Amino acid sequence: MQTELNTTGSTEVITYFVDVILPVPIPKLFTYRVPLAMNDLIQVGARVIVQFGSKKVLTAVVAHIHKNPPTNYKAKYLLELLDEVPMVTPQQIEMFQWMAGYYMCYIGEVLNVALPSGLKISSQSKIQLNPNVDLVHADLSHNEQRLIEALQEAQSLSYTEASEVLGVRNIYQLIKSLVAKEIVLVFEEIRERYQPKKLKKIRLCKEYIEKQTLDTLSKSLEKKPKQQDVLLNYLRHVPVYKDWMLNEGGLAKSAFTKNETLSNSALKTLTKNGIFEEFEIIVSRFDEYIPDPNVKIELSERQQEVSGEIMLNFEEKDVVLLHGVTGSGKTEIYIDLIQKVFESGSQVLFLLPEIALTTQIVSRLKRIFGNQMGVYHSKFSDNERVEVWQGVVSGRFNFVVGVRSAVFLPFDNLGLIIVDEEHESSYKQYDPAPRYHARDMTLVIARQQHCKVLLGSATPSTESFYNAKMGRYGLVQLKERYGSARLPDIQLVDLTAERKKMKKRSIRFSSTLVQAIKERLHVQEQVILFQNRRGYSPYMSCRACAHIPKCENCAVSLTYHMYSNELRCHYCGHIEAPPRKCPACGSMEIATVGYGTEKIEDELKVMFTQARVQRMDLDTTRAKNSYQQIIQDFENQQIEILVGTQMLSKGLDFDNVSLVGIFDADRIINFPDFRSHERAFQIMTQVSGRAGRKDKPGLVLIQTADTQQDVLHKIIAGDYEGMYRKEIEDRQYFKYPPFTRLIKLTTKHIDKGASARAAQMLADKLTTKLGRDRVLGPEAPLVEKIRNKYLKTILIKLEREKIDLKAVKHFIQEQREEVLLSKEFKKLQIVIDVDPI
Ligand code: ADP
Ligand code: ZN
Ligand code: ZN
Repeated sequence: MQTELNTTGSTEVITYFVDVILPVPIPKLFTYRVPLAMNDLIQVGARVIVQFGSKKVLTAVVAHIHKNPPTNYKAKYLLELLDEVPMVTPQQIEMFQWMAGYYMCYIGEVLNVALPSGLKISSQSKIQLNPNVDLVHADLSHNEQRLIEALQEAQSLSYTEASEVLGVRNIYQLIKSLVAKEIVLVFEEIRERYQPKKLKKIRLCKEYIEKQTLDTLSKSLEKKPKQQDVLLNYLRHVPVYKDWMLNEGGLAKSAFTKNETLSNSALKTLTKNGIFEEFEIIVSRFDEYIPDPNVKIELSERQQEVSGEIMLNFEEKDVVLLHGVTGSGKTEIYIDLIQKVFESGSQVLFLLPEIALTTQIVSRLKRIFGNQMGVYHSKFSDNERVEVWQGVVSGRFNFVVGVRSAVFLPFDNLGLIIVDEEHESSYKQYDPAPRYHARDMTLVIARQQHCKVLLGSATPSTESFYNAKMGRYGLVQLKERYGSARLPDIQLVDLTAERKKMKKRSIRFSSTLVQAIKERLHVQEQVILFQNRRGYSPYMSCRACAHIPKCENCAVSLTYHMYSNELRCHYCGHIEAPPRKCPACGSMEIATVGYGTEKIEDELKVMFTQARVQRMDLDTTRAKNSYQQIIQDFENQQIEILVGTQMLSKGLDFDNVSLVGIFDADRIINFPDFRSHERAFQIMTQVSGRAGRKDKPGLVLIQTADTQQDVLHKIIAGDYEGMYRKEIEDRQYFKYPPFTRLIKLTTKHIDKGASARAAQMLADKLTTKLGRDRVLGPEAPLVEKIRNKYLKTILIKLEREKIDLKAVKHFIQEQREEVLLSKEFKKLQIVIDVDPI
């Protein structure tokens, strides 16, 4: 697009400008000038490097190419063009724009979250010694001296490197002082973060790839047996006699170095003497994986019907909701559909909640799809994620299974998107902006790419089921488990009655539950116990004065963790030692109150000394493979009792679990939120679903202080639709989604009064146009101080019809900005969450 013929026929050089999206929270696109040399190459969606401000160098993405210089500033030149094949599609740019509008944030924030950081080049601050400085007479501290020595050695260091070398956490003070003394200079180094993985290989030099020369060589090495061994090893793996072309590909260097019978120095000598040469190739980080041809999916008759029904529904509807009970084999149905779409040449995206992805399902899919399937997961390294991204661009991966952020991958020809466990709240991003919902985004992507969306769940979200009932989505239901498996028998255990009988103040393990565990252990069956709260006990309390240790940064009590003997804040991560005596009254009697997974684990070990007990929660699964390991041990029956939080409920499939126990059901049901009943139904149904798969009948025991609660009886009866009907009535009556749209605004300020006043000012402004009924609050959220900032929330409720949503959002933004600009509130933040959950 570089040169155009003008009317006289001579060529004229055109100056182009590009508007780029910068990965920073600013409202506008920025315009840069394209250097002439790039005119031919620049394309929409390509990454470019630009200077932003006086110091920063950023990776940006080209959104438009045009010929109009900006009117109010002088455009800088682009510094570099990174992609000749754009890494971002024009459709994605459209989507980013849509997201920024809908979720009320900046497009740069969308880009920042969308691109894996490996695709963002950053400028990194580095330090080096000032060559013009007299070190001899400088007055230096011990650490300064050490840093200088390190710099003399290394030439330059990044801040992190410097802090590692010195073993000093806070290196900034030190650097600052050396910079002030003009001993050290700071400079910016641009670096590409993505590093391709390279493999060192060995091959014969060209002179030897002829039979004659090779024979001569072989003879000449007869007296050097070590070198000859190395040569023979090469020829065994790479039979160049048969085909001289084979030499080109060579042999991995590790095939020599890892072979203990071969001499490394012999290989070195051969390389030095020009017989072998070393070269490098770029390889994939993902292991080669060949599909197992023996794995065939054979759908049951009912599954086949369901698959047919889904296809039929797709003829009329773009979205279909598959409501299938736990263990009905939804995964098999997905695989069947994926295969069909995949064979037709379209791309497929399969979304799973974060935690489900790390385990069973991926290995199941790999056996079928092998290398053609990409996996996109947040526990992957950044380099791995970049490779999946590039693989989608290049066509290597036409099928990706991934978490929430996989909706950002650069697909351009999607045929089908599957959202498994569509009710899962982990599809919603809380922080940072864009606070998007991946399930809802798939509907937007589907409209763009004319593809179909299948939402699947045993306990669909009220919103999705409503859409299905209203005919907006197709609805397909599967109410029986696969094969001979039956749904588990769910029973309530009355804690109130037991407490009276045993004359105890509180009971964690009812006698019914203990008895049931005993029975299962006796017949070598496994047990899952669910307590949705980690740590040992949610708080400590002084017996004498009832003082409760609170976080110094947040308005919450500190959770006691016994294994590390710490009090921890689950909101900000603050840690402190548990007090030996009460800080308020000095009493030595400080008790732990309530119980989390740790305490249950602890008590189990005392009660069932023979059983192997394992805990699965955030604290035991932080390392990359620990989650996988626990699942594997449980599968292999090296664990009898697994205690854990919600993590247990996500799509796991164990053959030998015949008992599930649920603690603290009342707390789940009575959580103060309009979705709490729906959530309680979902969570307990899902956990229950882990019991009694294959041919073992399963039992679920739910411990509750109030056996009359309606939602519990809906769970027992497996009455999803009953729960839904009640829920949808309430939602309509109290004007909640899906009958309204919600937007939540949260003010944050270190000064409590300022936060409250800002929220009030904002609410007042909003009320002027939106009216009293649509603006609720401000009120203090459940936890009103987090990380030393005081929070107030305002909830905006908007009816779904007859409202200009865009205009309303624009109005809200304006009011927000006015409050933010007000002199009264320095350092105020106002966070917007559209469709909060
Ligand atoms: P869901 O996701 O609906 O809870 P799964 O897909 O995990 O159910 O299936 C439950 C169990 O039944 C799994 O062990 C799965 O392997 C098995 N299963 C389901 N359908 C089939 C089938 N068509 N052939 C063989 N096994 C199946
Ligand atoms: Zn006290
Ligand atoms: Zn805290």
